[in-house]
Amino acid sequence: MTTLGTASAAPGEVDTGRLPVGETRDGSQFGLPVAVVNGAREGKTLYIQAVSDGDELNGLGVVKRVVPQLAPEELSGTILVVGLVNYHAFQVAEHRNPVDDTKMNRTYPGNESGTSSERIAAATFEIASRADLVLDLHQGSTSQMLNEARVRCGPRHRLHDECLELAKVFSCGYVLDQKGPDGQLARTAPDEGIPTIDPELGGCVGWDEESIQFGVDGVFNVLRYYGFLDGDVELESQTRATGFDRYGAPSGGLVTFRRDLGDEVDAGDVLFEVTDVFGKLKAEVTADRTGIFWRSRRLPQVATGEYVCSVGTDVDQY
Ligand SMILES: [Zn+2]
Repeated sequence: MTTLGTASAAPGEVDTGRLPVGETRDGSQFGLPVAVVNGAREGKTLYIQAVSDGDELNGLGVVKRVVPQLAPEELSGTILVVGLVNYHAFQVAEHRNPVDDTKMNRTYPGNESGTSSERIAAATFEIASRADLVLDLHQGSTSQMLNEARVRCGPRHRLHDECLELAKVFSCGYVLDQKGPDGQLARTAPDEGIPTIDPELGGCVGWDEESIQFGVDGVFNVLRYYGFLDGDVELESQTRATGFDRYGAPSGGLVTFRRDLGDEVDAGDVLFEVTDVFGKLKAEVTADRTGIFWRSRRLPQVATGEYVCSVGTDVDQY
């Protein structure tokens, strides 16, 4: 029997339930929605979580689509799922947990007697620690972004190769291979010996069908490659960036992009221009280095210094 919160599944069974993590401001208990898919045969354990950032819903779209397709009688091993990590942020459709104004993915491995976010991180990190592989489904928030997978343990980590392999199996086509900030699950779980990636399924407000499909295909690739399901996976070469240059607005006004997501850019190429309200050019911003146009803001209006776009640099194939 495998148990996760109130969900319990014997071999060959699926169950869903709630993982209690505390109480809301009105004193009612709340729990994260969880699923356990217990394969009929022994095997590895995969942990999948979504909505660590409350406005990143594509991962939830993946979970909603993948879980009903999983037949435990065909499965070897166990899949543990938390469909919605950032409970409070999800309620108000915001990125950060409004209870403590914290970004969940800076609080791992969490603290069971800490802040609201730290407690949720601790509860979900405990589940991740039971797994052999972890997928932490994110997206570029509401910015526009490529579909990519992030390897966050850093190139000198003992699990770097395993994390890169997992990213290749997930196969979004692009990989950002760069050590992440403290407190990310994809940086912390490899310290426990668990290969972990942070798939970034595009970026949008609400759901994006193409990105959700990348996520669904990625999960099934992982299930086949690591022996949860029968079938072969043909590994495809991924475009990897190990640098990530961010560009801000040199002046306030309206941004027009000169590059599309996925475009190769050379040093000196114009990335975007800023005009005033009546179309008069105020600034042109060029790429400092060669790379791939990776992420861009959604709204055109910017203040001086405000984030505009990112270019993935030091690009190779692996
Ligand atoms: Zn995120």
